[in-house]
Amino acid sequence: MCAIVGVFGAKKASTVAYYSLFAMQHRGQEATGISTSNGEHIAVYKKRGMVSDVFSQATLDSLDGTCAVGHNRYSTAGSESAGDAQPVFAKYKLGEISIVHNGNLVNKNEVRSRLIDRGAIFQTDMDTENIIHLIAKSQNGALVDRIKDMIYKIEGAYCLAIQSRSKMFVIRDRFGIRPLSLGRLKDGGWIVASETCAFDLVGAEFIRDVRPGEMLIFEEGKEPHSEQIFEPDYHPCAFEYIYFARPDSIIDGKNVYQKRLQMGRQLAKETPADVDLVLPVPDSGVAAARGFADGLGVPFEMGIVRNHYVGRTFIEPTQEIRDLKVKMKLSPIKHLIRGKRVAIIDDSLVRGTTSKQIVRMLKEAGAKEVHMRIAAPEIKYPCRYGIDTPTKQELISTSYTPEEIAEKIGADSLGFLSIEGLKESLGTDRNYSLVSFDGDYFAGGSAESPGCAGGC
Ligand code: AMP
Repeated sequence: MCAIVGVFGAKKASTVAYYSLFAMQHRGQEATGISTSNGEHIAVYKKRGMVSDVFSQATLDSLDGTCAVGHNRYSTAGSESAGDAQPVFAKYKLGEISIVHNGNLVNKNEVRSRLIDRGAIFQTDMDTENIIHLIAKSQNGALVDRIKDMIYKIEGAYCLAIQSRSKMFVIRDRFGIRPLSLGRLKDGGWIVASETCAFDLVGAEFIRDVRPGEMLIFEEGKEPHSEQIFEPDYHPCAFEYIYFARPDSIIDGKNVYQKRLQMGRQLAKETPADVDLVLPVPDSGVAAARGFADGLGVPFEMGIVRNHYVGRTFIEPTQEIRDLKVKMKLSPIKHLIRGKRVAIIDDSLVRGTTSKQIVRMLKEAGAKEVHMRIAAPEIKYPCRYGIDTPTKQELISTSYTPEEIAEKIGADSLGFLSIEGLKESLGTDRNYSLVSFDGDYFAGGSAESPGCAGGC
């Protein structure tokens, strides 16, 4: 998952990067970092925590220069070390370099073993460290040629921003799986970011999406230079639209909120429910629930309140209070729900834990019937292209039919959006990456290959 930003030619690049990362906080909350170059040196600051906690005015001031790259790291199971924060910085033959990466490389284990065989040493589990080693060990002369050498050796999903002391290189894999957009800053300079919501906050003008397989080179006094490295085979990730991206972002010319509305409407067509009220699981199911309610012509209510101030709970609830975690976060408005037949809409079903607790909560609040609807198809395969998913065995839809899951979670019925319905909602102009639903690992890897252990 994760977010990246690259800023070039800005008066105070670290500030622009900071606000961009702040806007993209939803893409990763575990760690954050920014590096800047002032033409002579690269300075890096990275730490565990949220963007607004990690950076102070003093730290931003210490990051001087007109070029910055930044990253928000998503927390993935079993790999929560501060050393895994990005940017990854190194000194090498040509000087200094700093890299941020969003995505997941499917051949990272093979690449790493080859590098280790040749004497490389590693400090983290991140595939970004592979990238820096491949650049440093390349026999090519110029940095641009070393970068090209590196990208021919990596496979999978990647959006990269690479900073040297005087230039910035931005690369998107040929499938364009993870989003990346190019914008122009109001006071001069350029910005690339995982999501366009960053441009809205910093007042940048959206120019276009970075093309799949494209490398952009930013150099002082010049327009960005574009080079098509690979033949594009565009497969933008459907999960960005379903769950991950912010509703105000625009990916591939399509607004995320509107796509979610459409998925909800399609869901109402495919799997309607005879109910009095439609409720979203906040916040992830709001837009789809709105579309579902519109499609059915049934009232939509924000019948569950979300407490936004819940951080992590370190005290494990006992069996008697096993719903504590979800109750701390979500609370039903009993007056709305009592005696009603309700449809509850979420964007996706992964392990089934959240839905089980929500159904129980609604029944306890007096709902007569609870019909769960999911505005995505059944997730049967782990994504290997940058969305953190559990193992195949942990995905509930791998082992159970919708009817069996409905029984397990205590719902009166359960319905999913079909794969065809999802394609229809997103638009048939693209071959979307649907790997979690159809198991088509078109960019390499398999259900068994490495996931996002180093953050996505
Ligand atoms: P589960 O309880 O495991 O079925 O998870 C379903 C909930 O997790 C839904 O509310 C989704 O919005 C959310 N979700 C879906 N995919 C992810 C993901 N990759 N990481 C974190 N949460 C997710």
